[in-house]
Order: sequence, then structure tokens, then C-alpha cells
Amino acid sequence: SNVPLYLITPTYTRLTQKADLIRLSHTLMHIHNILWIVVEDRSSKSKLVTNLLDRSGIEHVHMNVETPKIFRLRPGDRKYMQHRGVEQRNLALDWIRMSYELSQGVVYFMDDDNTYDIELFHHIRKVNKVGIWPVGLSGGNDYEGPICENGKVTGWYTIWDTRRMFPIDMSGFAIHLQVLLDSPSVYWDRKSRVGNLESDLLISLGIERGDLEPIDDTCSQVLVWHTQTVKFEYLENRMERITIKNLEK
Ligand code: UDP
Ligand code: MN
Repeated sequence: SNVPLYLITPTYTRLTQKADLIRLSHTLMHIHNILWIVVEDRSSKSKLVTNLLDRSGIEHVHMNVETPKIFRLRPGDRKYMQHRGVEQRNLALDWIRMSYELSQGVVYFMDDDNTYDIELFHHIRKVNKVGIWPVGLSGGNDYEGPICENGKVTGWYTIWDTRRMFPIDMSGFAIHLQVLLDSPSVYWDRKSRVGNLESDLLISLGIERGDLEPIDDTCSQVLVWHTQTVKFEYLENRMERITIKNLEK
């Protein structure tokens, strides 16, 4: 099918950013009819991301919005102390809602450090309302996501905060554009409890379990993994930072 995909990626400046974005862009270079909406968590766009997007040849929208200071992680903070990528994904939602009032399409939130099988995108294109599938290496388990029988969600394979109505990772679902246009005031919500962003968004959109469209009859395939790139640490002797002058900023 030729339904367009709107792929939303928040990204922020750190030493591993280019490696992560190269890997992601090289995945997306295999997929046709996509618009990659990349939103940097910065006060201005970086050369690094600008150049990388141009060089990829992928149709894209490049924006930036800085996470407000009160919500920013401080050195030493554990990651889960704040939601990440919220303002960036919301800016992309604004952009999509303004630009695509009459269009078809499916929206997928793609964090910049995950691993995506190109097979996944065939399934996403078929989504009518909300598509759902398991995510590998997620929720503190080998995978996390729906348990399915005959193409319906019958339960959840999860061990972390099992009270969540929809215990899924950011990369475990995709939403038809129309669902987002029908609820124009629904956004990612900073007030969500830790780990509840995804579940709360679907609840706010009025989604019920019966609305969910599993990727296949049994949800037994993993096509995306919540991989995480290890934070890079310089050796204590940091001479190389002084001698390498040609890195993009
Ligand atoms: N992110 C961001 N600003 C930050 C931290 C993260 O925009 O200060 C982005 C990041 O690039 C990624 C997404 O938000 O696309 C989720 O962040 P991360 O992968 O660090 O979180 P986790 O996978 O642990 O949930
Ligand atoms: Mn991540």
C-alpha cells in the first residue's frame, strides 16, 4: 500500500548521537513514502543533524525545541527521573495537525537509539486506528507487549508496572493520522507517571483494548528492539578533544 508514514524522532546532542542517527537513517533509506520529522532538543538546529538529514536523501522536516530547564535531566540524575522527548514529540504533533488536515497516513514515534526491522513498516502502513506489537529488550524483560489470539489482544506480557492499561514501549504502536486529528487537544503529557507516557496517550485518545490492531494473529514476532547506546566516556587524558577540530557542531 502507498499510505504515507509520518515518523517522529526526538534527538539530543551527545557524543553517540551521530552513530545512532546514522544507523536510524540507514534503516529509513530502505522505506518509501515516508516523512521523517526530526526534532532536536536544543535552542537551535545543529550542523550535525542538518548535514545528516540532507545527506540521507530522506524527505524530512527538521525542527527544534529545547526541553524547559525544570524538566531537563541533570548530571547524575537517573534517566527515569524525567520523561524524555515530550516537548519535541508534541511540536511534531502540532506540525502534523496543521499540515495534514485532509490526508491519510500513519504516525509512528521512533526514538533515535532503537533498532528497527524494515519489515515493521509494511505492517505499520496497514494500520486503521492503532497498530500494536511487542518490543524486544523492553520493560526489563526479553520483550514487552501484547499477547494476541486470532488477531485480537487478549492480555499483556509485562512485568513492570502491570497496572498500566496499555503496558507498551514508545516504539510498540502506531496511530492513524485521523485518530490524532479527531482529538486535537491530546498531547504527550509531562504529568504522566514514570513509564506511563504511552499508556496515558492512548487513554487520552479514547482507545480501548478492542480498538488495538495486532501486527499479526499471534504477536509472536519482534521487529523492533529498545536498544540503548552506552553513554560514551572519554579517557581521563582528553588531548584528542583539543586536536580534532573538524567535528560538526
Ligand atoms: N531525548 C531528548 N532529550 C533528552 C533525552 C532524550 O530529546 O534530554 C530523546 C532521545 O534522543 C530519544 C528519546 O528522547 O529519541 C528517548 O530518550 P532515551 O532513548 O534516552 O530514553 P529511553 O530509551 O531510555 O526511554
Ligand atoms: Mn532510547
